[in-house]
Amino acid sequence: MAIETPDQTATLPILSHWIAGKAVDVPLDATGPIYNPATGAVIARVPRGGSAEVDQAAEAAAAAFPAWRDMPLITRSQIFFAFRELMYQHREELAALVTRDHGKTFPDALSEVTRGLETVEFACGLPVHLAGMMTPNVSTRVDAFTLRQPLGVTAAITPFNFPVMVPTWIYPISLMCGNTIILKPSSHTPGATQLQAELWKEAGLPDGVFNIVYGGKEAVAAIVEHPTVKAIQFVGSTAVGRYVYEEGTKRGKRVGAFTSAKNAMVVLPDADMDLAADAAVAAGYGSAGERCMAQTLLITVGDAGERIRPKILDRIAKLKVGPGMEPGNDMGPIYSKEHRESVIRWIDRGEAEGAELVVDGRGWHHPENPDGFFLGVSLFDNVTPEMDVFKEEIFGPVLGMTHVTTYDEALGLVNGSKYANGTAIFTTNGGAARRFKLEVDVPMIGVNVPIPVPAGYMSFGGAKLSSFGDLAMRGEDGIRFFTQQKMVTERWPEPGKAGPLSLVFPGNS
Ligand code: NAD
Repeated sequence: MAIETPDQTATLPILSHWIAGKAVDVPLDATGPIYNPATGAVIARVPRGGSAEVDQAAEAAAAAFPAWRDMPLITRSQIFFAFRELMYQHREELAALVTRDHGKTFPDALSEVTRGLETVEFACGLPVHLAGMMTPNVSTRVDAFTLRQPLGVTAAITPFNFPVMVPTWIYPISLMCGNTIILKPSSHTPGATQLQAELWKEAGLPDGVFNIVYGGKEAVAAIVEHPTVKAIQFVGSTAVGRYVYEEGTKRGKRVGAFTSAKNAMVVLPDADMDLAADAAVAAGYGSAGERCMAQTLLITVGDAGERIRPKILDRIAKLKVGPGMEPGNDMGPIYSKEHRESVIRWIDRGEAEGAELVVDGRGWHHPENPDGFFLGVSLFDNVTPEMDVFKEEIFGPVLGMTHVTTYDEALGLVNGSKYANGTAIFTTNGGAARRFKLEVDVPMIGVNVPIPVPAGYMSFGGAKLSSFGDLAMRGEDGIRFFTQQKMVTERWPEPGKAGPLSLVFPGNS
């Protein structure tokens, strides 16, 4: 499958906002470029929406809400099953759009689509999870029960790095709970979003239930400030996530923000070193390191460091970097020119801080695509905890190695991070793994698994500066986030036996 790169001089396709079940076209001067990072060429244009478009989308979503909320759950679920089927049929098309805009390899993009499908599949069966609890006779002829009800108009603001998976971790849960939604995807990788809207329409979703507004800072501010929007789930950087959380909650909205990370994997001397080396290279360089669950630090204990280093170097030497649609490549380009430069600056900084740059990917260019945003992979050894390259997220193909002498030191370094998204331990010792699971201060943990993204029906979320808000996304927490629980106490006295007036606080007898 080859990427189609339209002639720069031809009229480029322009994406449209999607409001009230229709594409809303915009003039050329209200759009920005979408690049193919493998070639550096502009391939399409994306609207730069703002408060006017958010107003229209909020109005459409509010108008669609009552009928969607009241639709029988089984009918809602049938629309979801139809969408699931369509998304499955179009999975390769969605994945190709992800590769085109983001640069990641096609198999990686396909896997992203599959992980998004998992949550859509979970949402198909959500009616059973929306059931309340009923207790008859909590008092004389008094029954108590709980109801879960939708909140109204909700919003999802999503990052560049998973253009299908992250939105489909959020909006299916919100919609199946009975809410309507405005999706504001990243303007860097918006291509696969439009197709999702069209597939929802084909599946029979009523107009206005699912809306898309493209844009950046202005569109996000309009969502955060909009009085109609009741809840927002955000995924992206800590700086923007903190802003969305603080400004949104200040206005009484429910907000969950899932943000930046610096994940470390611990390798104990008893680990299977081949397994650990495969894991480190796959987690560090897969998707060019642009994954919030990437393990970009390797903390080795005892002699694990000297034993794993040659194995990592062997594997790096065999990696193939090139366009994501070209079969056989392991890693594609960086998603944008600016971000490529930022990753290079981080490598410069690591060198200046005194880390040993064992493999330097800065000067690497793809021979046939010199204008593509390619970088080679980089490996730092002897990274120490005081260095910024140890502490901060780089979000590029840069793996760092840090060596300690004891398990306690390794655990202390993981727990000392200001971020807490994912972590992993590589060991053959069940006791050491058990201790890690209980004592590590990071919510998503892998044991001999480098990218421990929980299954699509489980919750996903970090802690510390990797998350704002009390609930994770998806799974049980996702349902709680997108619903309001009501507690009803109901009495049906026997006619004429209501009892005397009493000012005593009601007891349950
Ligand atoms: P980003 O914060 O730049 O963008 C996220 C969203 O916010 C996008 O929709 C973007 O258009 C919008 N935005 C960007 N700048 C803004 C501003 N100044 N004001 C208002 N809105 C703004 O993040 P990104 O670069 O798209 O994604 C990478 C980041 O996302 C990394 O830090 C990564 O760790 C994080 N991430 C976290 C998770 C998680 O689950 N914790 C998952 C994926 C990505």
